Amino acid sequence: QAKASGRNRVQFFDPQMQAQVRAHMELEGALRVAVERSQFSLYYQPQVDDTGHITGAEVLLRWRHPVKGMISPARFIPLAEETGLIVPLGRWVLEAACTQLAAWAADPHLSQLSLSVNVSATQIRQDSFVSDVFRILDDTGADPRRLNLELTESSLVTEVESVIAKMAALKARGVGFSLDDFGTGYSSLAYLKRLPLDQLKIDQGFVRDILIDPNDAAIAKMTILLAGSLGISVVAEGVETEAQRQFLAEHGCHGYQGYLFGAPMPLEEFEHLFSTAFSH
Ligand code: C2E
Ligand code: MG
Ligand code: MG
Ligand code: MG
Repeated sequence: QAKASGRNRVQFFDPQMQAQVRAHMELEGALRVAVERSQFSLYYQPQVDDTGHITGAEVLLRWRHPVKGMISPARFIPLAEETGLIVPLGRWVLEAACTQLAAWAADPHLSQLSLSVNVSATQIRQDSFVSDVFRILDDTGADPRRLNLELTESSLVTEVESVIAKMAALKARGVGFSLDDFGTGYSSLAYLKRLPLDQLKIDQGFVRDILIDPNDAAIAKMTILLAGSLGISVVAEGVETEAQRQFLAEHGCHGYQGYLFGAPMPLEEFEHLFSTAFSH
C-alpha cells in the first residue's frame, strides 16, 4: 500500500509549495545568522502633536540582508515570531532604543524626545520580559518615562491577566503603553477598560480612505472619542495628506504619525529634521 501510493505522496507537495517551503527555510536560516551578526538597524519615524511639533519617534526595525538588500519587517517579524528569534531580536531593539534615549538625555535640546518600541505578543509572554526591560533600563540609564511600548491586540487574547500584571509592573516604573493598530484585531472592549494603557493608535487602514469611506471615518472618530473617554491619548498612523490631518484634527485627534511628517529614517536624519524643521 505504501509503495503503491509513493508516487502520489510526492505529488502532495506540489512544486509551488515546495518552492515556498524552501524560500521560508532559507529566510529562517538567514534570519538566524542576521540575529547573530546584528545585521539590523533602527529607523525613526517622527510623531507630532497638534502644533506639528515633534514629540518623539516610533522605532522601526530594518534588516539589511547582504544579498537581498532591505527586507521589510512585515516579512521577517512574523517569521521571527514563529521561530522564537523575536526574543533576542526584540531585546536588541529595546537595548538600542534605550541607549539612544540615554544619549539624548545628555543633550538639553533632545532630552524631551520619547521613543515608542513595538513589542510582539511572543516577547511579552516571556517570563523574563519585565526583568529584561528593567535590566535594560538600568544598564543604559534611560528614563523609563521616555519609553513607550506598543502592543497589538494579539498580545491581549491569551494570558491576559499575566500581561496586565506585567504592564502594571512596568508602568509603576514609568514606562508607557500604546495599543497599536487598534481595531484590526480581536481584543474586546471589556479588556480595554482593564488595561493600563496610555494611548490608542488608529491603524493606517482606517486613515487611508478616511475622506472617502464613511465607515473608516466612523471608526476613526469612535477611536478618538473612546480614547478621550478613557482619559488616554490617541495617535493616528499613516497620515499622508494635509486633508487627512485636518479631518482628524477637527474630530479631536492630537497625535500624528505618517509620511506627511516624515517616513521612517536613519537616526542622523531624524535628529537633523528635529533640529531644523522645528526650532524652538
Ligand atoms: P506598525 O508598528 O504599525 O508600524 C507602522 C508601519 O507603517 C511602519 O511599517 C511604517 O513604515 C508604516 N508607515 C508609517 N507611515 C506611513 C504612511 O504614511 N503611509 C504608509 N502607507 N505606511 C506608513 P514598517 O516599518 O514596514 O513596519 C511594519 C510592521 O512591522 C510594524 O507596524 C510593526 O508591527 C512591525 N515592526 C517593525 N519594527 C518592529 C520591532 O522592532 N519589533 C516588532 N515586534 N515589530 C516591529
Ligand atoms: Mg507600531
Ligand atoms: Mg501600527
Ligand atoms: Mg500597522
